[in-house]
Amino acid sequence: MAPGHMIPLVDMARQFARHDTVTVKATIILSNLNAPQFRATIERDKQQGFDISIRQVTFPSAQLGLPEDFGRSLSSATNLVELMKFVKAISMLKQPVEDLLREDRPDCIVSDFLITWTVDLAAKLGIPRLAFHVCGFFPLSVHHSLTKHKPDSDPFVVPGLPDAVMMTRRQVPDGVLACGENAEDYDDYEVAAKSIVENAAEKEVASFGVVVNSFKELEPAYVEHYRRIIGRKAWQVGPVALCNKDTVDKAQRGNNDDDNNNNNYYLDNWLSAKEPNSVVYVCFGTMTLFSATQLREIAIGLESCGQPFIWVVPANNDDQEWLPEGFEERINNEGKGLMIKGWAPQVLILEHESVGGFLTHCGWNSLLEGVIAGKPMITWPISAEQFSNEKLVTDILKIGVSVGNLEWTRTIDVYKGSITGKNIAKAVNKVMDVGAEEAMEMRKRAKALSDEAKKAVQRGGSSYNDLDSLLQELMQVKKM
Ligand code: UDP
Repeated sequence: MAPGHMIPLVDMARQFARHDTVTVKATIILSNLNAPQFRATIERDKQQGFDISIRQVTFPSAQLGLPEDFGRSLSSATNLVELMKFVKAISMLKQPVEDLLREDRPDCIVSDFLITWTVDLAAKLGIPRLAFHVCGFFPLSVHHSLTKHKPDSDPFVVPGLPDAVMMTRRQVPDGVLACGENAEDYDDYEVAAKSIVENAAEKEVASFGVVVNSFKELEPAYVEHYRRIIGRKAWQVGPVALCNKDTVDKAQRGNNDDDNNNNNYYLDNWLSAKEPNSVVYVCFGTMTLFSATQLREIAIGLESCGQPFIWVVPANNDDQEWLPEGFEERINNEGKGLMIKGWAPQVLILEHESVGGFLTHCGWNSLLEGVIAGKPMITWPISAEQFSNEKLVTDILKIGVSVGNLEWTRTIDVYKGSITGKNIAKAVNKVMDVGAEEAMEMRKRAKALSDEAKKAVQRGGSSYNDLDSLLQELMQVKKM
């Protein structure tokens, strides 16, 4: 569906293939538009002796009259018609995928939870289908609660959770509150979203279970809550990003562009010249398209916060007219900041000792990568389930400070935002102020979670054990 889905799914396949108590052969099915980004990584895995490969299906852009590389990511869709075409294109992959499966004869399909036709396909082939959830147990529990119990006030406490989590209606994704309600009361986008959400939930019930990119120690109460309330089998097997152990894997994760090698060398030198914990890393994932006004405020906030920064500006926001005058020259000349236009090696940057904080949109992968690196966060959720993720970071784990965004935005819309440079600088400084007790405590908690994350995937750790029991169970199913 998007890099935020593909990257962890590929990591998960690699983790399955690496598991050392059961021999697993992993085959990753990717479209022709996305397979090239992962080829070099998978080739390296093969050379290391892991039984893993990529098979390719063709994204039907031409059949739907779409530009050739439209199918790279859901972020290509900028209106409802395009969004529905994307969904349609995904459904057209069913037959080519079935053909591949009939050749390969797998024992189990692990599929993005939104690709719901894999349930019928698995049933046809007589094998289990596992739904892969892109986010963790906390946001899944919030989502489940809000589809079932409609809030009767605003703000409201999310009903039935282990903690009192306060949210506003404007922070809830479109379609969620519409679930189970009368479609006439909602607009076309909300109705489309509602049907996607309801369909995914229905197909999840028909699945063998769900695999979640999370680890028990991150959200123990919610691992239990989700399993109990939803009553479904769920295995937590993450953080899957930790299967990227060497620098090449980390640098190429999600983008095998050889040209990046020189840039990475420069990046490492730039970071190494800074004080430990002094740099703010700023990235808003792969889906957000900012308005020029909001981008300008980010530039003002970063320049005025007094900390060195690395700011990833997505290629689709590369129109420079919004930059304050002389911004780039100033930050370059003074060594204060680095703008990366396009793709950044996020995992590599985050783990650098000079990086002291992460200004993030709270995509689940980014959140986990911040946790793995042990970096406190400045949270700026924008879309999807990011507002729930923010609550986990700021209210439950207490490893971050919010910039104060209140308005959920559709992925097809430009995010207009009204966060001022002043607010951004204030939140950044609250996290980066090494002398302040609150900041020190956050940093300590983040570091402790990082240790737990690493332990979870090692032999005997919670995620290792959960993956092991999943694989043992699948072996039993195979014998039946
Ligand atoms: N990412 C990256 N470099 C970039 C932008 C994104 O490596 O320049 C990766 C990031 O590490 C994460 C994924 O892309 O693994 C984005 O997923 P996330 O859930 O954080 O956000 P989304 O893009 O789905 O909103």
